[in-house]
Amino acid sequence: MTTPPFAAPTEAELDVVSAQLGRPARGVLGIAARCVCGNPTVVATSPRLPDGSPFPTFYYLTHRAATAAMSELEATHVMVELQDLLLDDELSAEYARAHAAYLADRATFGEVDEIAGISAGGMPVRVKCLHALAGHALAAGPGVNPIGDLALARSRWSASVCECETPGRATPQSATPETAT
Ligand SMILES: [Zn+2]
Repeated sequence: MTTPPFAAPTEAELDVVSAQLGRPARGVLGIAARCVCGNPTVVATSPRLPDGSPFPTFYYLTHRAATAAMSELEATHVMVELQDLLLDDELSAEYARAHAAYLADRATFGEVDEIAGISAGGMPVRVKCLHALAGHALAAGPGVNPIGDLALARSRWSASVCECETPGRATPQSATPETAT
C-alpha cells in the first residue's frame, strides 16, 4: 500500500495496467497497491488526465479479479448494509476523515477546480461505488477507509492470493515489489 509520493510507474507496470483495463492506461502517477506477485491492483491517477479532463477517482482499482469481486458485492445488498452503518456517529466520522485524506492525497498533484471537494465512491456520506472505496482502502492500508475495509473483508478476493493473468509481469527483474514503493 502506498500514498503519495509515488515512484514513477515503469513500462512493465503500465503494460500490466493497460492489460487489466483493456485500454491504454492514462494519467498513471504511480502504483498505489499491489498483488502479492507485484502486479498493480490500484493505480494513482492524475486529477487531470492528459486530454485535460478532470478525474476524481485518484485511487483506481484496476485488478480484474478485484473489480469483479466488488461488482459481485454491489449486485447484492451489501451497499445498503454499509450505507446503514453510516448512521453510527463514530463510523460516519471515520468515513468523513477518509474523504478528507483522499482529497489531501490527490491535492499533492494539484487542485482541479471541476472536482474540488469531490472524492470518490460516494464519500463523505454515501456508499455508491465499492470499487473506489476498496481502491482507497488498499492504497491507504487498514484503518483509513472503514467502508472500503469492510467491502474488502466481505469480498472473495484478497491481495494476498494472486489471481493475476500474468503473475509477476510488472516486476520482471526482481521479486521484491515493495522495495520500489
Ligand atoms: Zn498477482
